Amino acid sequence: MSRRQIADVAIVGAGMVGAALALDLAQRGFEVALVESRAPAPWRAEDEVDLRVVALAASSIALLQRLDVWTAIASARASAYRRMRVWDALAPGALAFDAADEGASALGYIVENKLIQSLLWQAIERHDGIMLRCPARVVASELDAHGDTRSLALDDGTHLRAHLVVAADGADSVLRNLLGIETRDRDYAQRGIVAHVAHERPHEATAWQRFLPGATLAFLPLTDGRSSIVWSVADEEAARLLALDDATFRAELGAAFDFRLGAIAATTARAAFALRMCLAERYVAPRFALVGDAAHVVHPLAGQGVNLGFRDAVELAGVLDDARIRKADIASEATLRRYERRRRSDNAISAHAFDAIQSGFGSDVAVVAAMRGAGLALVGRIAPLRRFFARRAAG
Ligand SMILES: Cc1cc2nc3c(=O)[nH]c(=O)nc-3n(C[C@H](O)[C@H](O)[C@H](O)COP(=O)(O)OP(=O)(O)OC[C@H]3O[C@@H](n4cnc5c(N)ncnc54)[C@H](O)[C@@H]3O)c2cc1C
Repeated sequence: MSRRQIADVAIVGAGMVGAALALDLAQRGFEVALVESRAPAPWRAEDEVDLRVVALAASSIALLQRLDVWTAIASARASAYRRMRVWDALAPGALAFDAADEGASALGYIVENKLIQSLLWQAIERHDGIMLRCPARVVASELDAHGDTRSLALDDGTHLRAHLVVAADGADSVLRNLLGIETRDRDYAQRGIVAHVAHERPHEATAWQRFLPGATLAFLPLTDGRSSIVWSVADEEAARLLALDDATFRAELGAAFDFRLGAIAATTARAAFALRMCLAERYVAPRFALVGDAAHVVHPLAGQGVNLGFRDAVELAGVLDDARIRKADIASEATLRRYERRRRSDNAISAHAFDAIQSGFGSDVAVVAAMRGAGLALVGRIAPLRRFFARRAAG
């Protein structure tokens, strides 16, 4: 695609969601411009497992398979989890999901963000239908005089035009702000501490989650036998845990996890991420759409953020393709509204469900603890309910 052409779609942000959408649209025959402020660092097998990992649900894996990058990801480093175990520090009852009950070989896979980004990026670089502008940062966006294109001003002084602009520029989306799209926010006043840890007993290809008063703790299995942890705690507690020496941190982590995998034998350095919920009030504007974290940021306790973002990408590519097949304007208001209707309520329901779970499970009030224990036991005993939650968890 030449630099003077008007792109069908200009995507801002080549994180996992923007990159997947760019590739999907290009593979369907759209001419795509992709603007990214910095190229992803290349993933190398000899490097230590990156601290940022995601639990990919079946729906995300299906997308990566269709984009023809999954085989390379899986053969590089992807850890299947075949079971999930969820339990509560203050209440009896536990939930157990097994892939075998669903007739599946895995519930999902744990993969480094960096690996997904880097393989999508390589595929993008090879694709003739994608014009890559990197490093470049979007600083302004305007609907053009006739209303049939939108332009983007880049920080290198150049401009781009497209029939549709998609913001995939993450939680602090510059484009969402430029378009004046309001968000509903909730600061959890929590941080998610991440690290990779070695433990005494094998992780059994299981994703473990323990609810504690005011905290959640997840252990996600890695291919080398260690687990990747996400420990969501209040800001002050996070500051305290981050300041601990390794031995004390390992002892506290082991206790918080109820020594389910024995003692914690070793840990990498720790990193922490501020946690919030942020939901865009609108997903579309004239010749404009939001996807991924630019549209919705959710609590990581259910490990669904990028899975929801990938579903946005699939839905948006689908409605644009339908419009094109009908020879209609790909970015008409009706087309964009169809995308918004299909994704905004699903994302809002998921965000509020994770919000309710984190408030309900975070509570140490005795009656709330007893209710959630009863709830866990109920779901655990009733097979159709258990299967319903297993399917939701697996996307
Ligand atoms: C602790 C933690 C654990 C998590 N675990 C999971 C999990 O297990 N499963 C899961 O599904 N999700 C998980 N998530 C959420 C997941 O990481 C995010 O949902 C996902 O990374 C969002 O991807 P994205 O592509 O939408 O945005 P981003 O990854 O933020 O990408 C945005 C891109 O836009 C670029 N950009 C920004 N501004 C501009 C600009 N002005 N011009 C040009 N480019 C720009 C950036 O450089 C970046 O590359 C977790 C999150 C946290 C914090």
